[in-house]
Amino acid sequence: FYQPLVRLDTGATTAFELLARWPRDGEEIGPDQFISIAEEAGLITDLMLQLLRRGCSEAVDWDGAPAIGINVSPIQLKDMWLSEKILATLARAGFPPHRLAVEITENALIGDPDNAIRTIQSLKNQGIGIVLDDFGTGYSSLQHLRMLPFDEIKIDRSFVQSIDSDPEALKMVRAIVGLASTLGMPVVAEGIESESAAKLLRDLGCAYGQGYHFGHPMSGEQVAALTQAEAALRA
Ligand code: C2E
Ligand code: CA
Ligand code: CA
Repeated sequence: FYQPLVRLDTGATTAFELLARWPRDGEEIGPDQFISIAEEAGLITDLMLQLLRRGCSEAVDWDGAPAIGINVSPIQLKDMWLSEKILATLARAGFPPHRLAVEITENALIGDPDNAIRTIQSLKNQGIGIVLDDFGTGYSSLQHLRMLPFDEIKIDRSFVQSIDSDPEALKMVRAIVGLASTLGMPVVAEGIESESAAKLLRDLGCAYGQGYHFGHPMSGEQVAALTQAEAALRA
């Protein structure tokens, strides 16, 4: 499935995040139930590449050439061939690397940071965007922010969801946006569920947003219709 990311100032859709789903016996199983199993079974990179192949083949024709984002598990960065595998998949699909962003969490930089940095740097050298996901949970280490020139920082939805009810959450988000802006990194707020939250974030200077307020994760056909409608509006 694909979930839209929008510019908070204009509302224009700029990208879609790929989110894995497992349809089984007429039901849909969420990633929280199978990602950790795929990691333990050594299947997570195969799963990610399959998702990427599917994503590229659908997204290559979308109007406006939006970017796509894919989640990479920390354990995958131990694979010294990861960047070659991703680049080969893009090349086969004829999908330009600058339209892909890889989302990693800080956990990817724990343990064997040198290897992780090498892999991420090689993706970046090919024009792939690097996003620091779930920022605010876990380590939130300034050291990690200095280790890599991230293209974007995603503020975790636990902060965003309480931004209009909890003054402390608002203060934290303001501080993160300020820090990111000083470092020249645009911020994406995830988990935006209301216009009031979207407005607060826009006023704080947050560049991009994602959440049910703008769109739920949707099928490729739904994205094709959405991007076509947005292109018709622009024309
Ligand atoms: P994530 O990377 O933080 O992805 C965002 C999650 O928040 C998605 O859940 C999305 O459906 C949900 N979400 C989006 N907007 C809202 C909102 O407004 N309110 C609320 N309450 N939730 C919202 P999903 O699809 O269940 O994915 C959960 C997590 O599973 C993802 O969190 C990501 O860490 C992981 N995941 C999903 N697909 C993959 C994958 O292909 N590979 C890996 N390694 N992890 C994946
Ligand atoms: Ca993500
Ligand atoms: Ca996230």
